[in-house]
Amino acid sequence: MLFPKDDPKQAHRIRQYLIAVGTSVLVWTLLFLLYWEGYLEKAGVVHVTGAMLFFFGLFYALFRSGLNLRFRDPSLTIEMMESAIVVLIWAMYHATPAGRGVIILMLPFIFLSGLFRLGTRDLLGVAGFSVICYGAMTLLLLHFRAATIDLRLMLLHWAALAAVLVWFAFMGGHMSRMRMQLALSKSGLEKALHAIQELATHDELTGVHNRRHLMEMLRHEKNRCARNGSTFCISIVDLDFFKRINDKFGHQAGDDVLCGFSRSVVQRMRASDYFGRFGGEEFLLILTDTNLEGARIVADRLRRETEQLGFSDTNPDLRISVSIGLAEHRPGDEIEQTLKRADNALYKAKAAGRNRVEM
Ligand code: GH3
Ligand code: MG
Ligand code: MG
Repeated sequence: MLFPKDDPKQAHRIRQYLIAVGTSVLVWTLLFLLYWEGYLEKAGVVHVTGAMLFFFGLFYALFRSGLNLRFRDPSLTIEMMESAIVVLIWAMYHATPAGRGVIILMLPFIFLSGLFRLGTRDLLGVAGFSVICYGAMTLLLLHFRAATIDLRLMLLHWAALAAVLVWFAFMGGHMSRMRMQLALSKSGLEKALHAIQELATHDELTGVHNRRHLMEMLRHEKNRCARNGSTFCISIVDLDFFKRINDKFGHQAGDDVLCGFSRSVVQRMRASDYFGRFGGEEFLLILTDTNLEGARIVADRLRRETEQLGFSDTNPDLRISVSIGLAEHRPGDEIEQTLKRADNALYKAKAAGRNRVEM
């Protein structure tokens, strides 16, 4: 198996490594062509082939063993680029002056592979490394093969190489920064979208689902039940005499009650049910896969628990109660019809004295 299945980051690095291998094979083909046409010594091709195979194996072993994780950049981009540069410059040593002119064209090629991944500093480092290797190769040629080289041409090549690579380094750094800014603005947009979704589906005061989202859930639930034959109940939960709470304790205390009540319901409800604020001091609890009998038990428990709720940190003697209207959805009915029946039941509960469940 070429990729580790359980580690997507390492798999991604190995994929990049394989792209580098592909690029190297392309470069090798060009070098072989040079050899074929007499611009490169046989020793050059042999060394290049050996060195490439060595580096392919070395880097693959580093990635597969996980040793790459010990490097500053575990994708080993710089290390792979510099290995390729050494190999290419070594090939130049074995090339004719005209052959060297062709091979030098391939250096920017290697450089481009790191352009999108490295910042200006690293790219300048690789550019410096290339220029130093090229200088070392020139010195070796001067020492061992002085007769075969045109030193002025080599120095011109050298200057051109330095200029091109340094320019690339700055351009590459610029592109990296642009990519970073793009990524940043993308993540900003994602955050904004998330906030908008939150706003569109949740009640601002209590943080529970809002009316729009509850209606959507009701439609969803209706379709689901039409398909699989199950049933669900709607309970409308209305706080009793809420106006009096506002009048007696103040609007802020009223808000606190709405929040505290919501929190207590959310803490106790089933994960598969939906709860939200339908408007004002009126809430909706959608009981999925529940018939009227089951809903009655849930609603009565909710009613009793609400009686026990305290808001001691602000107003110790504040107590609330709720009236609940229940209706089971009938197959074929519209959501509005079920809501209407639940509302009628709520009206009955209010008329019968409040703090009750009716259906
Ligand atoms: P009932 O038992 O018949 O339901 O009486 P009630 O006073 O609860 O009902 P009514 O519909 O007469 O009044 C509801 C009150 O809820 C009126 C309104 O000021 C208050 N209310 C609605 N939304 C909010 C809110 O967001 N915050 C606060 N503090 N009060 C709210
Ligand atoms: Mg009320
Ligand atoms: Mg009301």
